Amino acid sequence: MDIDINCVFNLVKKRNFANILISKFMSNALGNHILVEFMNCDPHIMNDVAGIERDMVGAAQKAGATVINSTFHHFSPYGVSGVVVIQESHLAIHTWPEYGYAAVDLFTCGEMNAWISFDHLKECFKAKSYSAIEMKRGSVNLLTRNDFDISTMRQKASEWQNPEFYTRNVWFTDKDDNQALSLRFTGEVFYDVQSPFQRVRILESYKYGKMLALDDMVMTTQKDEFHYHEMISHPALFTLGNAKNILVIGGGDGGTIREVLRHESVEKVTMVEIDGEVIKACKEFLPEIANSFDHPKLELLVDDGISFIKNAEAGTYDLIIVDGSDPVGPAEGLFSVEFYTNCYNALKENGILVAQGESPKFNEKAFAELNHTLQGIFGSDKAPVSLFFVPTYPTGMWSFQYGIKGDLNLKKLADSEQVDTFVSKNGLRYYNSEIHVGTFATPNFVKELLKK
Ligand code: SAM
Repeated sequence: MDIDINCVFNLVKKRNFANILISKFMSNALGNHILVEFMNCDPHIMNDVAGIERDMVGAAQKAGATVINSTFHHFSPYGVSGVVVIQESHLAIHTWPEYGYAAVDLFTCGEMNAWISFDHLKECFKAKSYSAIEMKRGSVNLLTRNDFDISTMRQKASEWQNPEFYTRNVWFTDKDDNQALSLRFTGEVFYDVQSPFQRVRILESYKYGKMLALDDMVMTTQKDEFHYHEMISHPALFTLGNAKNILVIGGGDGGTIREVLRHESVEKVTMVEIDGEVIKACKEFLPEIANSFDHPKLELLVDDGISFIKNAEAGTYDLIIVDGSDPVGPAEGLFSVEFYTNCYNALKENGILVAQGESPKFNEKAFAELNHTLQGIFGSDKAPVSLFFVPTYPTGMWSFQYGIKGDLNLKKLADSEQVDTFVSKNGLRYYNSEIHVGTFATPNFVKELLKK
């Protein structure tokens, strides 16, 4: 390719001239913009919305900025976007954890030295390499000033009592490709441990209080946990009437054993939770849920429920409750035919299995496949589904799926008065005798999904 050197020169001349022109015009600029590429950063840091929000706000404050507002959003499965609005303009970020990369904008005006923020973030993000371009924005030589009565504006700022106060908008999102549930949370992180099985976090949302998140999925929250824990336990226990020996697989937050142990007939509860970090986190930060771990009738095992049930003695349990997380990571095997066949064998005759059943409106495939598995093992008319609401689960519509070994009838309540006496005595807030019957009523589209 022939290069016309004169043309190049002209370009350079033009560029140099342009630069001279720009710097002449831009010396008196309204803003300063540093465009930063942080590379080879720690992917976990790049995916930590609360940590990034804390560091971005810290970067602004370290450079002496006044923070007005911070809005940060975590995208599932990964990626964070956010902006810190400061009196001196803004700091913004978008991360690609899968590349260990963050695109950062430090836009400032006034005396603020944004390079201080740059240094702070480089440290926080453990960026092994980076590039940065600084440019002036808004040359007053190129702008026409409008006559503008700003007296009222100035007044407002001076009335500002508490410069420390700023509104935080940090969002936690649990989603699949097409649907999401977002909770605005305070940004406070009470517990954050990467266990051998999953990332265990206790966060705090404005609407639902403290919450347990495993990886990026909401597991339970202070304000709606009772929906789930009352419905996973009481319908089966009242159908059995006199259950004595119960097995709970999973349930590390402790809410399920709390409800089961309300029943006086129960003599022993064996709980097999794979991740001790979940128990530890909930005991410390969700004590009203995790309040039964010292109960004398409880035998707590930190172990894999899949191998435990494989070695369980046949005909041992009146009730097996599978309070597992979604079919990923350690819980994947909790949706297999082998696992439920072993559960069937470990149940007594006239025993009941109940499992966290996913949602007919969020992960339809897992929901339907689980029921087909249970129908295959227990019988096509022995695998009923109960539907109930959990506001902090995507779609809010969730299910428990049953396997009945024998001829018990979950849908027919023997003694509703006994149930409602128990309900008021224990102050239950979701379950009652009408809900017991209503929860097994399935809409037509669900009946379609469950057809084998
Ligand atoms: N309500 C939640 C839901 O619907 O997803 C479930 C809550 S409970 C915290 C789920 C528990 O199952 C977690 O503590 C997790 O560690 C545990 N778990 C996952 N796989 C397991 C396995 N193979 N054996 C025992 N526990 C398991």
